[in-house]
Amino acid sequence: MKALDELTFDNRFARLGDAFSTHVLPEPLDAPRLVVASDAAMALLDLDPAVAETPVFAELFGGHKLWAEAEPRAMVYSGHQFGGYTPQLGDGRGLLLGEVYNQAGEHWDLHLKGAGMTPYSRMGDGRAVLRSSIREFLASEALYALGIPSSRALCVIGSDTPVWREKQERGAMVLRLAHSHIRFGHFEYFYYTKKPEQQAELAEHVLNLHYPECREQPEPYLAMFREIVERNAEMIAKWQAYGFCHGVMNTDNMSILGITFDFGPFAFLDDFDAHFICNHSDHEGRYSFSNQVPIGQWNLSALAQALTPFISVDALKEALGLYLPLYQAHYLDLMRRRLGLTTAEDDDQPLVERLLKLMQNSGVDYTLFFRRLGDESAALAVARLRDDFVDLAGFDAWAEQYKARVARDGDYSEEQRRERMHAVNPLYILRNYLAQNAIAAAESGDYSEVRRLHEVLSKPFEEQAGMEQYAQRPPDWGKHLEISCSS
Ligand code: AMP
Ligand code: MG
Repeated sequence: MKALDELTFDNRFARLGDAFSTHVLPEPLDAPRLVVASDAAMALLDLDPAVAETPVFAELFGGHKLWAEAEPRAMVYSGHQFGGYTPQLGDGRGLLLGEVYNQAGEHWDLHLKGAGMTPYSRMGDGRAVLRSSIREFLASEALYALGIPSSRALCVIGSDTPVWREKQERGAMVLRLAHSHIRFGHFEYFYYTKKPEQQAELAEHVLNLHYPECREQPEPYLAMFREIVERNAEMIAKWQAYGFCHGVMNTDNMSILGITFDFGPFAFLDDFDAHFICNHSDHEGRYSFSNQVPIGQWNLSALAQALTPFISVDALKEALGLYLPLYQAHYLDLMRRRLGLTTAEDDDQPLVERLLKLMQNSGVDYTLFFRRLGDESAALAVARLRDDFVDLAGFDAWAEQYKARVARDGDYSEEQRRERMHAVNPLYILRNYLAQNAIAAAESGDYSEVRRLHEVLSKPFEEQAGMEQYAQRPPDWGKHLEISCSS
């Protein structure tokens, strides 16, 4: 275990120089205080969780103090936002404080979001509000606990600093951890500004640090792109299987590592709804739940375009062609497991599709359905779940097929079935209304609810005593909360 002043830095991105990022100091928050910290994320830095409660912790992550070895930098990038190219974006309110490596030799970027203005702030104030910082914190750690690749969050620091959004709110900072903060948009920036040397330097950096095994391949850059395609296919399959809606899949929000990144108006589905749009500014539903799959490919094509100086167009197209089949294979594998199946049959895909259609028509809770399905034998479970469906004949027909399929799958005890299914079907997910309750309490100075919710979500598959209220469908007020882009 380390004390806060024992972190070891190795700022590899900063060393790329001024063409890639600009030195900017954090702008401190007034009266910084700890809202919540993640013990699991603290462990990634070998930090003793107890240090989160010390005043110096809030000073460091509230922008008042800095390690001597930190080199805070705002990164430059660009990206396609809602399909249109924006030539220059960049860290407008976040700073890469430095890269820390732990005892296991892993490097972690320390990125402080809400740290004040930078040369890339455009019209913004460089700040993040408490509400959005809590949402990012909870989502990163909840996704990780579900087994979905994501950036991590160390802590949220609250403050008295006034920040104006639709109304006056208070500023906060979230400390984000990732092995890299390089986005698709970094490659697009150097491609569209016609800076081939810097682009090559960036590509070498990513290859050497994050895809070293691709060096062994005859065409290392192509191997790296293929790996990025594969990781995105797998990540998006997990989003779809668990009902996660990102909300702003712009290419500047897509990580080069294939992890869930940059949380805005995200949501987990309550009722299953393939057409769900979680961002109320997304009028055309570009980033609706079911569109995430083709948009994943669209984003990879935008990255492929930026890689044309290094890789032939034919090879890029071939690699892009891997996306959909890989996505489908991962998705089906996950959905089979969610249904308690251990074998594969050709008709499993229509079995899943029919179920989702029935759930959609009846507004069935996506998370609780699968959890309850594993509570008992297939026959008993479907008999109990039947009441949730409007189209009873449709559900009965599906249930017969499902029971027959389960019987062909193998002979398991109810106990074995429950154990297997509960290990992949969470009881607790980050429902918007749960986040909203925690935010409302935090805005009035009570952080206990954020901390409790974070704790519950860190073990989403384990039933926790006394936590029944976190495993409920939303009350009426919490069903269709509009989450704005403002953050
Ligand atoms: P986002 O929607 O958070 O992914 O941000 C898109 C771009 O706008 C990024 O370049 C951000 O750094 C920038 N941005 C968002 N909010 C602010 C803000 N309050 N101040 C400055 N820049 C911001
Ligand atoms: Mg962003």
